[in-house]
Amino acid sequence: MNTKRSQELFAKACRHIPGGVNSPVRACKSVGCDPVFIERAAGSKVYDADGNEYVDFVCSWGPMILGHNHPAVVAAIRETLESGTSFGAPTSKEIELAELVTSALPAVEKVRFVSSGTEATMSAVRLARGFTGRSKVIKFDGCYHGHADSFLIKAGSGVVTLGIPGSPGVPEDIVKNTISIPYNDPATLEKTLRDDKLDIACVIVEPVAGNMGVVAPAPGFLATLRQLTAELGIVLIFDEVITGFRLSLGGAQEYYGVQPDLTCLGKVIGGGLPVGAYGGKKEIMDHIAPDGPVYQAGTLSGNPLAMAAGAATLRELAQPGFYEQLETKAAGFAGELAALADKYLPGQTTLNRVGSMMTTFFTPGPVTDHASATRSDTDRYAAHYRNMRSQGIWLAPAQFEAAFISAAQSEADLALALEKTEWSFKQLAA
Ligand code: PLP
Repeated sequence: MNTKRSQELFAKACRHIPGGVNSPVRACKSVGCDPVFIERAAGSKVYDADGNEYVDFVCSWGPMILGHNHPAVVAAIRETLESGTSFGAPTSKEIELAELVTSALPAVEKVRFVSSGTEATMSAVRLARGFTGRSKVIKFDGCYHGHADSFLIKAGSGVVTLGIPGSPGVPEDIVKNTISIPYNDPATLEKTLRDDKLDIACVIVEPVAGNMGVVAPAPGFLATLRQLTAELGIVLIFDEVITGFRLSLGGAQEYYGVQPDLTCLGKVIGGGLPVGAYGGKKEIMDHIAPDGPVYQAGTLSGNPLAMAAGAATLRELAQPGFYEQLETKAAGFAGELAALADKYLPGQTTLNRVGSMMTTFFTPGPVTDHASATRSDTDRYAAHYRNMRSQGIWLAPAQFEAAFISAAQSEADLALALEKTEWSFKQLAA
């Protein structure tokens, strides 16, 4: 595969942008190669600067559930664009998206739009602290909630694959208010939450972890979390930045039948434009300025283009049968993927899948938390990634991420991905 133009662009980018990228994992460091530069995308495919075509399983890290350049989303953006791109004043488009979100998620009575998932989680935690008057945040090892200071402790995603233990620049004074405990461990959870010396404002959790690779909540784990936090007056925050509108119209909270106090959203609700949101019970949301004293604001919050792209996306997702079809496609694909792994790498891999998000770990498993996820042989993942990319299959350039199925992927796309996977697994087994 010729990637000459990408190499030139990367060299140039490195002169102007730290590491040549605007988000670290894109640099492909943990998979031992240089990035390729993407020039355009359509449907299930992305195309690089040298004209190579790839079947896309990254989906811009989750948002592109409909595939790229979906006609309804493009039309909504085009139409909105004609009327101006940002006003810094309320618009009807914000109400439209807010209505779509609140009607899909009964636990979200009011919602505030921001411009990224990081802003959503950061603001939700501030709100939980303002509401409870307490200070500590409980999170789970391997869960990533964006790059705000409070969350950069045992965070997943790029923080794991780059081997950064938290991050320099995050003051001790801030992280001492964050306690990270193992995912799927109800005994440690209960012990921690019942420690009344701790002054706990909130628990934030990825209801399905996507940032240590995909890890499902163990049966009853989310229900225990709900029951304990309700009993102790602790705000329960579901970070559904990945899972919101991905697992079902009502997100993981509908999928598992557990309702949080606050929900963070992002990715899919922006239809590929920069959006985040946090919302929840009216009695908590009413503490946000200007109704209440907890401050949060944004120059581009509720940006009309982003609102239009998000609303067009959510309307497509609300079509009858959308999630059932996605599930059938994902289940079929994952079944064949697991069969290939069993054939060529028996007992050496674990495939975790929830709905249209999945991860193949190069460890016998089971993978149920951060400790078991990080047993995966990341060198093997790196080799698999390079194999697949060289064959036109676009996977996440890091082990501890999800692969996403989109509505745009055809039978032929998935068959091609399986054929290339078989080739790659044979190489790994040799
Ligand atoms: N929360 C989760 C679960 C995420 O996966 C991410 C990003 O991947 C974030 C929060 C942060 O979102 P953003 O990258 O839009 O700031």
